[in-house]
Amino acid sequence: MLFESAKSVLPGGVNSPVRAFSPYPFFVEYAKGSKLYDVDGKVYIDYCNAYGAMLFGHACPEVIEAVKAQLVKGSLYGVPTEQEVKFAELIKKVSPCMEMMRLVNTGTEATMHAIRVARGYTGRKKIIKFEGCFHGSHDNVLVKAGSGAATFGTPNSLGVPEDTTKNTIVLPYNDVAAVEKVLEREGNDIAAVIVEPVLANVGLILPKSDYLSSLRKLTSKYGVVLIFDEIITGFRLALGGAQEYFNVKPDMATLGKVLGGGFPVAAFGGKAEIMQHISPVGGVYQAGTFSGNPISAVAGYAVLSILEKRKSEIYPQLEKAARELSVALLDLSKNYKLPVQVYNIASLYQVFFTNHAVVDYACAKLSNVKMFNAYFNELLKQGVFIPPSQFEACFTSTAHLPEDIKCTIEAFDKALSVASRER
Ligand SMILES: *Cc1c(COP(=O)(O)O)cnc(C)c1O
Repeated sequence: MLFESAKSVLPGGVNSPVRAFSPYPFFVEYAKGSKLYDVDGKVYIDYCNAYGAMLFGHACPEVIEAVKAQLVKGSLYGVPTEQEVKFAELIKKVSPCMEMMRLVNTGTEATMHAIRVARGYTGRKKIIKFEGCFHGSHDNVLVKAGSGAATFGTPNSLGVPEDTTKNTIVLPYNDVAAVEKVLEREGNDIAAVIVEPVLANVGLILPKSDYLSSLRKLTSKYGVVLIFDEIITGFRLALGGAQEYFNVKPDMATLGKVLGGGFPVAAFGGKAEIMQHISPVGGVYQAGTFSGNPISAVAGYAVLSILEKRKSEIYPQLEKAARELSVALLDLSKNYKLPVQVYNIASLYQVFFTNHAVVDYACAKLSNVKMFNAYFNELLKQGVFIPPSQFEACFTSTAHLPEDIKCTIEAFDKALSVASRER
């Protein structure tokens, strides 16, 4: 079996822990539109969407054509191209805070370098992050992280020296007073506050109405760089991301996932005044062999061009699908008298099996994971794939058609019925 072979060469049989689930994950042969087709011939309607990356679903023709046209001209040159400049100009045009940026390959690189620049710019050492926020898997931010770190119970990774994480202050999400207190005490030592504007890595947690604007005010007061990690929210809440959706402009932002249309590209950027501290114009070092490669650049350019042209139809369509699924989850749960909280914003949604509102990591951890796993497994059986963890969000794409939504709601009914037996 493929999984047995995988386990002998890849730890746990996977290249990212979030992909592992019991007894073993399915292996995909190909994907098209809203669906994944596995090596055993089974079809799944996909709401994982590569953890939110595939906003147009799988194998989007416009993105593929753009990549094909570039491939025959070469895939990597090690010298600048017009493609990367055009791509960066388009990102700048649609993202409120991105005056200047660097293109990188993954979200992990983007947040790692954003934090380094913030430190270089301010000359300060410490950063504030929030419990359950996931900012990639580098040392500085692997403290009480969400996603796989929350799922597998390793909120603090082995191999991360305390010397590194002692400069990372971890506070609860949605708690302005906690941030205020730390800034009052040691604001002058803090380089950056990094936050997921919508917490989408411990399930889905929405910011309280004044949360982001309060973070904006407080960080400005203390000269702290406010970084929005928009690797999920960017181009998903709106074309201009959470910055546009909530009308709060951070000093810096990180982008990824949707940005590349399925190809590895991410970006970090913000105020020119900050970004001018990067080498070769400034003293903060950052580099990458594959950074800004023309394949990812043309793929990303295609994605943003489509969004720019058709945003007035695309975003309402994405939102309608996610809202229908959320309403159905809530209604069906009532039939089974299940304790649930369903959260939904734009094209994201998730259910928690609990009676209590989920506003932060501690609340999320109180939900009934046994029920969630029963729900997940039954959905899988019914041909609906969602991320295999309570501590992830689900995503709609423009490829989800009304018949997909209808099938999914039928599968929800069966899955909630199975979950209700876990009481
Ligand atoms: C996925 C994610 C990252 C990490 O991005 P990678 O491309 O997986 O390295 C960082 N921040 C957030 C909010 C994410 O969801």
